Formats: sequence, C-alpha cells, structure tokens
Amino acid sequence: MSVTGKRITHADRILGFLKNQNKPLTAYEILEMMRDEGIKAATTVYRGLDKLNEKGLIHRIESLNAWTVCCGSHKNKIPVFEICNDCGDVKEHLDQELTDNIKNLAIRTGFKANNPVLEIHGLCGSCSTNL
Ligand SMILES: [Zn+2]
Ligand SMILES: [Zn+2]
Repeated sequence: MSVTGKRITHADRILGFLKNQNKPLTAYEILEMMRDEGIKAATTVYRGLDKLNEKGLIHRIESLNAWTVCCGSHKNKIPVFEICNDCGDVKEHLDQELTDNIKNLAIRTGFKANNPVLEIHGLCGSCSTNL
C-alpha cells in the first residue's frame, strides 16, 4: 500500500472480498469468512454493506437475504437478477425498456420506488439444458 494512498476501510475490504466470490453471500457468511482479516463484529459487516450499498457498489438480493457486487455502471437502469434455484448462479442484467416501464408505472401511481431491484427465480441456461 502506498503512503499517499487513502486508508483501506472495512467497507473496501468487504467489497474486495465480495468481488472474489462467485455467488451472493449473507452478512453472516461474510463475517465468518472474513474473521481472519480482522473483521470480527456483525455490526462492522452491516455498516460496511450499508456504505457500499449507498454508493451502488453492491446489491442486496432480498429473496436470498444476501449481497452481491454490482456488475458495473447502471446509468440509472434498474438491475434485474436471474437467480438459478439449482446451481445458485446469480446474473445481473440491465434493461432500459424495463426501467422505463417501471418508472412510468411509478409516475402513474405516484409510488416512490426505493432502489428497485427485480429478482427472478428459475433455472439458468446450463441447468435447464441439463434437464
Ligand atoms: Zn448493479
Ligand atoms: Zn443453474
């Protein structure tokens, strides 16, 4: 680490850790797996996840109660997650048309969406062809 570089926070460490995972993890799993790296309290994990979520760097998959790293830049698009019930694979997709439709719905109903995320459960391409 360079002397001029900014301090590595717990949130940075959690982000780096999540980037190396191939599936979403619960806060508890993150805590268990990061104990060796000096993260010892659940509140540290929750606070770090909150910070990363606010910055849009990670997403919470409600149906799995787990966290995953964002695929990149959204440019205001709403993420759609395809979640495989068999292998557990989770893929993030961004779709402009879907985003527009959801925004139009909110305009019609006056609903204020809070960080919308769509989660679709099913079988991924490789699991469904293996049937
Ligand atoms: Zn994302
Ligand atoms: Zn699958």
